[in-house]
Amino acid sequence: MHKILIVEDEEAIRLGLVDLLEIEGYEIAVAVDGEEAMEKVRQFLPHLVILDLMLPKVSGYDVCRYIRKTFPQTFIMMLTAKNEEINKIQGLEIGADDYVTKPFSVFELMARLKSMLRRVSQDTVPAPTTPDILEFHDVRIDFRKYEASRGGKPMELSAKEFQILKYLSTRRGEVVTREDLLQAIWGYSIENMPTTRTVDNQIVKLRQKIEADTENPLIIKSVRGVGYKFDPPEAGK
Ligand code: CA
Repeated sequence: MHKILIVEDEEAIRLGLVDLLEIEGYEIAVAVDGEEAMEKVRQFLPHLVILDLMLPKVSGYDVCRYIRKTFPQTFIMMLTAKNEEINKIQGLEIGADDYVTKPFSVFELMARLKSMLRRVSQDTVPAPTTPDILEFHDVRIDFRKYEASRGGKPMELSAKEFQILKYLSTRRGEVVTREDLLQAIWGYSIENMPTTRTVDNQIVKLRQKIEADTENPLIIKSVRGVGYKFDPPEAGK
């Protein structure tokens, strides 16, 4: 069964789409804002995302960019309002596969969705990809060669540190909990979690290598009581 994520903050449209697509036999998940959308994309791994452009918290543009970067196999159908005409082109430029303008015809939408989904097997699981090269601030990391440099000078990173940066780069700008890291990097299950101090110690060490001021980190920020946020300045800044 193909999986479709519906991202729409307008309840009437969202519920209408849920009804329609459930009747058609798709497996459905919904998100009501951009932040939830990125979370659901990672958890639900949809084949296709119906993505409204104007969303609370994180805009449809940013969600689209995120999906395109991290889940290149996932199709994106943009929903735009009539007065957002100009934005359609931008939508396609940032990687949407198609778009419909609200109010849309149900038949037209279904035809377009089906034509996209014909191109992907329902057994395919869209997998996240990470870029081979990660650059931020004065740091450059090559995940293929396991090489890192800072300010042009080679820098030693441990295997764990490479893994952490790779994982964080797929979740740029989001709050990542210590438990997320323990699962993703250390492979612990929820029932079998060690103390989260393991994570904190590792982050302290990593910060010493990549941050200019470890007391005021700019790259891996602390989110009090929750975890961390990888939100580095662009390369060269
Ligand atoms: Ca909207």
